[in-house]
Amino acid sequence: TSNTTDSSIAGEAPPPSGELEDDNVVYFIKKKLNVWCRQPKGKWELGTIQSTSGDETSVSLSNGNVMTVARSEILPANPDILEGVEDLIQLSYLNEPSVLHNLQFRYSQDLIYSKAGPVLIAVNPFKDVQIYGNDYVSAYRQKTIDNPHVYAMADAAYNEMMKDEVNQSIIISGESGSGKTETAKIAMQYLAALGGGSCGIENEVLQTNFILEAFGNAKTSRNDNSSRFGKLIEIHFSAMGKICGAKIQTCKNVQSRVVQLASGERSYHIFYQLCAGSSSDLKERLKLRAASEYNYLNQSDCMTINGVNDAKKFYRLMKALDVIKMSKEEREVVFKMLAAILWLGNISFEITDNENHVEVVNDEALTSTASLMGCGSEELMEALSTCKIQAGKDTITKPVTLVQAIDGRDALAKFIYASLFDWLVDQVNMSLEVGKRRTGRSISILDIYGFESFQKNSFEQFCINYANERLQQHFNRHLFKLEQEDYELDGVDWTKVEFEDNQECLDLFEKKPLGLISLLDEESNFPRASDLTLANKLKQHLHTNPCFKDERGRAFGVRHYAGEVVYETAGFLEKNRDPLPSDSIQLLSSCSCELLQSFSKMLNHSPKHSNSPFGGALDSQKQSVAMKFKGQLFKLMHQLESTTPHFIRCIKANAKQLPGMYDEDIVLQQLKCCGVLEVVRISRAGYPTRMTHLEFSGRYGFLLTEANTSQDPLSISVAVLQQFNIPPEMYQVGFTKLFLRTGQIGALEDRRKQFL
Ligand code: ADP
Ligand code: MG
Repeated sequence: TSNTTDSSIAGEAPPPSGELEDDNVVYFIKKKLNVWCRQPKGKWELGTIQSTSGDETSVSLSNGNVMTVARSEILPANPDILEGVEDLIQLSYLNEPSVLHNLQFRYSQDLIYSKAGPVLIAVNPFKDVQIYGNDYVSAYRQKTIDNPHVYAMADAAYNEMMKDEVNQSIIISGESGSGKTETAKIAMQYLAALGGGSCGIENEVLQTNFILEAFGNAKTSRNDNSSRFGKLIEIHFSAMGKICGAKIQTCKNVQSRVVQLASGERSYHIFYQLCAGSSSDLKERLKLRAASEYNYLNQSDCMTINGVNDAKKFYRLMKALDVIKMSKEEREVVFKMLAAILWLGNISFEITDNENHVEVVNDEALTSTASLMGCGSEELMEALSTCKIQAGKDTITKPVTLVQAIDGRDALAKFIYASLFDWLVDQVNMSLEVGKRRTGRSISILDIYGFESFQKNSFEQFCINYANERLQQHFNRHLFKLEQEDYELDGVDWTKVEFEDNQECLDLFEKKPLGLISLLDEESNFPRASDLTLANKLKQHLHTNPCFKDERGRAFGVRHYAGEVVYETAGFLEKNRDPLPSDSIQLLSSCSCELLQSFSKMLNHSPKHSNSPFGGALDSQKQSVAMKFKGQLFKLMHQLESTTPHFIRCIKANAKQLPGMYDEDIVLQQLKCCGVLEVVRISRAGYPTRMTHLEFSGRYGFLLTEANTSQDPLSISVAVLQQFNIPPEMYQVGFTKLFLRTGQIGALEDRRKQFL
């Protein structure tokens, strides 16, 4: 055993930043401690430092190679005892490779859940992992298992709700395909198992997933079952802790998927399910054909999903509709609307003059659509091929061009689908209606698309990323509060730990009149506005905002908390206006189908005031898409603000939806985007290692050279710290816990090993 009067350990251990400095390097060489060494391609390899001179350091890698790198390419690795810890905050060094490695180590053992302080990290296994079901529900309920799990988090939320009568929320975010929707379902299953009673409403709540997924999910290139909307489900509990009702709120931006598909992607599941699964009777009533005969579906090269039987799914959906007690008649209307949309896509136009004006081709597509919608073929024809213009007192009917006609037809299809979806959500809500709602006993589960940054970013990403800024603020503020509470509870000096706030970026979006959304809406009101005028306007008014970035041409950049994103303004105005020709609105109000009539009323859109029937500008009474999205988001956030939040960050380990494959770059990117590294940074700024005095004295007390007169854990702990000359700024002594800066435990561990 070496003697302990050796110079201080603390001075040699890396500082909280987790970087290596001169005297640390010597220490690492002497003790043969592991370091992470960045490889030319950016990956990190484990190794030990052999020698160092100037900025050059020679590292012997675990794969046998020796390489010479700059000091900045080396970071300290954690001691072995910290391999695969449940909570990243327990890591002595919280640098990126350490976090990545820890998650990978756990993932390779199917430990898909970890914590980062209060945040649950879920790495999508892309395979069945045997950690769910009734046995596990009981185990987590009885706390015979207590490792990180969605069940454990749902259990904590449930207990807190029952104990304090405070509404709770479980906020799930992550990229497309990372597992948000599955995670939300797992949380719901746990709550349903706990809160199941005699009335069976918990089953109804679970069944809603089948309905919302059929109508709101689609196959995309990143997820075979991708939800195209954000969802907040609020589950209410009785005084006995039993589920007594639920309410769903949704949040979505553009619905172009109904009419336009990218290669490898499908439209909403329901269209294929209906075509594949409806009985021959129903088919006849709907004049339905195979999915491959509809333009809206067959424009993509992808009609089926591996391992999915659409007909069976349709059957499953019908059972779910039974559970929410949707009547035969209502179902029939829903299916009619779906068939009408499909037929609408088959309606074609014929050019009649050299100005590209068109007439509708009078064929089966036209007659089928009209009969399904409950209007005459003539009226439908006219609505699709002409527009009315107000000239003084007179209304002049003019033919439209091919482009206008196609846009108008597609707008109608999109509108019917979007309205149908909202209507369905209303139906589901009515069936789940809580008798008397009482605050204080609910758990809301939010499943919402995460931050997106692609090669090309458009209006969709603009909306999604704006929503994520809002959520991030909620997240930051909550964590900040938690940290503060933990320090204060233990009587520790709360010297303010710096938190990054994204208020500036939110202001960039929300400020009136000079914010992104206001300016976009204003520009949407000018009939002659273009992508370029929009881009110029944004630049003119916002270039001084630190979160705004000037880009060349029609693009602009935003510095988001998760990184910089460049948005192309192409299509922004059009998507924001999302116009529905006034003739179509009139048509809808005259249809014999009551559902369509009610959809037209929801627009509170008076055709007379529309200054351009083809959406040259935003109608004064119609809300822009961005505004509507912001409204929905505010409603969601408002509801969340009155709850105690629990955060789950979903991560996909690879982009191929494959099991057992861990792509470091992809994981790192997501850790940044979902703020996990931020949590880690927050902790690094403070005192991440927290051990009770009992734990600490139990582990390191025997290292004391001088017999300690008092035997209480606190005195022993303090004596250990003093013996090893750990500088006072490296720790704080609380009532129950010791708060240590990053790196301190690693050094103590190393010392401890020498004695064992
Ligand atoms: P998101 O909602 O984030 O887009 P999903 O929840 O739809 O992603 O998950 C995508 C796919 O990943 C699922 O269809 C499923 O195959 C798989 N998956 C996600 N979470 C799990 C899990 N906990 N266990 C097994 N497979 C999962
Ligand atoms: Mg989803």
